[in-house]
Amino acid sequence: METTKCLIIGSGPAGYTAAIYASRANLSPVLYEGEQPGGQLTTTTEIENFPGYPDGIDGYEMMEQLRSQAKRFGADIRTGLVTSIDLSHRPFVATIDGGAATVAADAVIVATGASARYLGLDDEKKFRGRGVSACATCDGFFYRGKVVAVVGGGDTACEEATYLAGLASKVYMIVRKDYLRASKVMQERVRNTSNIEVLFNTNTVGLFGADAVEGAHLVRHKGTAEEEYFDIAIDGFFLAIGHTPNTAFLDGQLQLDDAGYIVTRGASQATSVPGVFAAGDVADPHYRQAVTAAGMGCKAALDVEKFLLADGH
Ligand code: NDP
Repeated sequence: METTKCLIIGSGPAGYTAAIYASRANLSPVLYEGEQPGGQLTTTTEIENFPGYPDGIDGYEMMEQLRSQAKRFGADIRTGLVTSIDLSHRPFVATIDGGAATVAADAVIVATGASARYLGLDDEKKFRGRGVSACATCDGFFYRGKVVAVVGGGDTACEEATYLAGLASKVYMIVRKDYLRASKVMQERVRNTSNIEVLFNTNTVGLFGADAVEGAHLVRHKGTAEEEYFDIAIDGFFLAIGHTPNTAFLDGQLQLDDAGYIVTRGASQATSVPGVFAAGDVADPHYRQAVTAAGMGCKAALDVEKFLLADGH
């Protein structure tokens, strides 16, 4: 079986940064990119807050740059999804694409990120790809001149709403509380965009339409005396209500917190299994920024280097 000193699982800013550091430390890392090479940032628009890009940078372009930087130092970057991994003994054995290949690794960095959350309505499944989306930059193009809704009140929702406002004729934001959780600057952008209407204290009950989404059933002030049901006509329904960490393939072998994020030890990226490290959104319920993910990727690679040295590699 093929053996590597350092297996990196995931290809967002955490995975690629870990690959840059691990390559430069002569660990010859093997990195599997997963389902979405480049990770979540490839589906965002402009990244304005990553240091070193005073004019901002397109998310896809930034990930391409990180990828080619990792390759320049010799990282072995591969297409493929790690579908399971045995962490019960070392070397750890990872299964790729359900059995197409197996790789044994002395140390592992899990940088699998997080996936968009859905409300859990049956109608979301029914209309997935026919009006329901969790990625405005991927699908916004189809809604030029149409009416759409974005669910959520965080930075992602504000970012998606302002992006969609440039394409659609009107954007509703459906916000369950009476305030936006987003940062001040994003709230300001929403307020200053004339074709965004924020529906506060509002929840989605269902969607309707013949073949594709034609509208949403909403309720304002749910469960109170002022409770009010109403419908809006929309062509697109975009979810922006946060993410769930991608840990299913670990099958309970690493300690997770209550929300499903991998627990890391102290100031390091070490997990509950010696030799396994975690970096980026999969281990970060708090910050979830590209720059913090990259920082964790760096730390994880340095932790691997130290771990392998102590282990006699
Ligand atoms: P957040 O967790 O910050 O916000 C999620 C939003 O969805 C909240 O408004 C929440 O409502 C709402 N929500 C959650 N579940 C439901 C539900 N079942 N029904 C209705 N509404 C729901 O996630 P984001 O993805 O917006 O942001 C994640 C992190 O990434 C944050 O730290 C953010 O700052 C960061 N980020 C930064 C960006 C930037 O700096 N450019 C861009 C995008 C994200 P409630 O408030 O009621 O809990």
